[in-house]
Order: sequence, then structure tokens, then C-alpha cells
Amino acid sequence: MQLIFHGGAQEVGRSCIELRTTGDRYILDCGLKFHEAGFDYPAKFFDVKELDGVFLTHAHLDHSGGLPFFEHYRMLCPIYCCTETKTIAQILLKDSHKIARIKHLHEAFNNVDLKEVATHMAGVRFNQTQPFRTIKHTFYNAGHIPGSASIKIEAEGLSVLYTGDYNTRTTHLMVPADPHSWGHVDVLITECTYGARDLPDRDKLQVEFLNRVDAVTKAGGRVLIPVFAVGRAQEILIMLAERDWPVPIYMDGMAKKVTRAVMDGDSQYVRSRELLARLFSKVQFITSDEHRSAVAEQPGIFISTSGMLQGGPAIHYLEHMWTDEKSAVLLTGYQVKGTNGYLLDNDKMAYIGGYRTKVRCDVERFDFSGHLSSADIKETVTAVRPRILILNHGNPENIKAINDWATGLGWCAVYAPKVGEQVDVNPDGTSSSLRVYEEGPNVQYLEEHQHAFDPREHEGGGGDDGHGGHTPSQSDENRSGVVHPDEHHDHSEEHDE
Ligand SMILES: [Zn+2]
Ligand SMILES: [Zn+2]
Repeated sequence: MQLIFHGGAQEVGRSCIELRTTGDRYILDCGLKFHEAGFDYPAKFFDVKELDGVFLTHAHLDHSGGLPFFEHYRMLCPIYCCTETKTIAQILLKDSHKIARIKHLHEAFNNVDLKEVATHMAGVRFNQTQPFRTIKHTFYNAGHIPGSASIKIEAEGLSVLYTGDYNTRTTHLMVPADPHSWGHVDVLITECTYGARDLPDRDKLQVEFLNRVDAVTKAGGRVLIPVFAVGRAQEILIMLAERDWPVPIYMDGMAKKVTRAVMDGDSQYVRSRELLARLFSKVQFITSDEHRSAVAEQPGIFISTSGMLQGGPAIHYLEHMWTDEKSAVLLTGYQVKGTNGYLLDNDKMAYIGGYRTKVRCDVERFDFSGHLSSADIKETVTAVRPRILILNHGNPENIKAINDWATGLGWCAVYAPKVGEQVDVNPDGTSSSLRVYEEGPNVQYLEEHQHAFDPREHEGGGGDDGHGGHTPSQSDENRSGVVHPDEHHDHSEEHDE
């Protein structure tokens, strides 16, 4: 069996692992990687038509964003994922396509390809082992966002467990992943987003967060809570439901649509659905630019995308409150360098109306995360005891931290492949090796096509509206999603800069 890393290896973004057995080709996830100038698709991929199946862990675009692109090249195989992932991925993919069109980023696919993705998505039930061609697959709850799964593939006498993004701690929104439920695992591929970091106690963090909202609203200030649309927005709602507030709560941006999808879903792994529904009925939704401008001047709690204030309605609220010392911006996740959120967090500065401005309102950050900590990754590996351990989905420092620890264990082979490398596993699992992945000389990789569509060529290096304090409208509310990882890309927040 060969495992080829087309993305998400020594990086966060464009997760895509090809699993090859004799005669069959499968992929685990098919994501996009966002960066300042645009985005990248999985690398060194060829002949999409030959794929036999796709296994999708969850809806975040760094796992699903490449699907329409592959569909454009006539990927004619089923895409296995659970129903909630199917629903949420469609919302995110449609939105990212809309933004790309507005920004004249040529995504190399069209609406027909988007529809094809939806058609090929097949709903899978958790904890049920299903045969498909020569393999078997089982989806387990990953505890990361609604619908998220860790996927086990049994092929050629080996069992491979791909964690996807996961969390083994209970959050307000999700039942945690349980590695003990995975059974026997020969090859464990684990994410390492927080490989070098531990996380604050979530319950304590929640109390501090709610106390802060309380203090600001009681003193007559406004509270802006920038959120990621999937997961974080719902979790913040559940937290707020625990207390009564003297001011209205508003929700803006894509968070509303995703929250409704989560409430309408039937996942047994979403906790506090009743709390969510209770608060959802009390929240006021922003319906127009005028509505937004009117409420932004009034006392209130504003939950809005994008999570790092790269455009989106969140920046609009900031424009209204940055001079008010009584008001506060409460960031809810890690902020990537170069974003308004990062500037606010570190320098109390933000690009407002195109100018880098010192804000006078209060700024605080509460590091809620959907991933597991370094200690949790180690605990998982120890519990599962795989013969082969492969580390992915993390920047090099985070991968290295787990790699250094795991190589000292002595009972498993450890690999930290880079993009374009592959791990070969013997049928009996006794020997394995890492090498550079190379197809024959006549193979045309998809990335050769990609360069023709490279968004950087279309940017013209001109106005970087991602940094401008533009006034968002309905159409551009989430445009930052393409240029900067924000609500679509919950995890880029966990980069250690
Ligand atoms: Zn994720
Ligand atoms: Zn991810």
C-alpha cells in the first residue's frame, strides 16, 4: 500500500492523501490552501478520472475546497462523507466560488462542477463498517466541528486510521473523539495542529469570556465577537445562552446559515442542540446594510464573521466602535499574522477605512480551539499503539515536536512527510519507508494546469482589499475567505507564528 501526500504535509491547508492499493486509487480529503495571494490545490496530482473513491473528513475548505476543481477534471467517483458534512461543505464551497468570481480569481471550475460535487456526495453513517470495492471504511466522530469524522480504511490486510481534524476534549458544541473506539490500527495518520502547544482550560476560559461580555455590556459598551462560521459561531451562542443579557444579540454573515444547518442536522455528536435553538430564536439577524449600520451604533452583542476581521461584516462593526473606549472586541481564536485580528491582538491596530489605525476600544483574545493539544495527541498515540505513525496537518514546528517525542517511543515507525512524498507500507505491515513521490516522465500533473489559473497572476498586485476597511455588502460579506483564511478555515488560526 502507498500513501502519497499531495497536501497538508508539514503545512496546514490543502489536505489530500492518496491511498493506493493494487489496482485502486482513493483520496482522503481534497482541500485548498489559502495564502496572502490566493490559494493552492493539492500538488502532484494526475489523472483524476482514475480515482475510485474520495473520503471526506469534514467541511472546512482546507479539507474540501479542492473537490470542485477535481470534479472539473472529471472525477467520476463517489465522495463519502456524513450528511452534515455534505450540507455544510456545500454552503462553504458555494460561498468560496461566489467570492472568487467577485474577486476575479479564476478558480478553474464552474457552477456545474459545484453541482457535480453535491451529486457525488454519498451520506455515510458513523460507526458502521461498509465494504466498497476492495476495501472497507468506517467513520468515527472526530469532535472537531459538526459532521467531522476520523476515517478508518481497511485494505490489503492493513488498517489505516486517518484522524482528520479532531478533538479528544469535550467542547460546548461537540462530543469528543474517542480513539478507543477505533479498534486495531496499523497505520495512524494524525493531525498535529497544536503539536507543540498546550491549550487553556476551556471551562475557565468560558467564565472569563462571559464575565468580560457582562462587564462591557453593563458599562454601556458594545461587544464585537468575530467568529468563524462553522463551529465557533455555534459554540459562542451556546456559551451566551447560559446567562441573560441586558442588550440584544445580533448575528451577521454566513454564521446564520451554518447555524441553521447545524440545528437542522441530526448528528448525535452535537451537544446542547436545545440551548442552541433557544438562543437562536432570541438572536436578531442582520438583513441589510442599512440594518447593520443602524444597530452598530446601539448597545449590543455582535457575533459576526469573519473570525480574523479580514473584511466581512465584523470589520464594519469595528468601524463603528473603534473610537469608543467602553466597547470591546473579543477575539475567539488564534489570529494569523498579517490579519486585522492579529494586528488588533498584538498592537491594538487595524486597517480602518484603508488606514492603519490605533483603536481606542478594548481588545482581548480568548483562545477557543477545535483541535486537540500536544498532550492529547501523545495520549492518543499511546492509546492506539500503531505500528506506523504518520504526522500531518501542522506547521513544521508542531510536527517536529510530536516527531521528536514519537521517535523516542521505540515501538513504532514515525514519518513526517512533506508535500510530494510517499510512505510505502508492506502488505504485512512489518516494513515501511518514506521516499519522494515521482510518477513516470509522461505524467501530467494537475498543478501544471493550475499555474494557468494561478490567482496571483490576476491580482495585479494592486489594491489589497483584504486589508482595506471596505464597507461590506451582502455580496462581499465573506470575500476575505479566498484571500485570507477566515471563517472557512477555522484552523489556520492555530498557526504558530
Ligand atoms: Zn477543520
Ligand atoms: Zn484542517
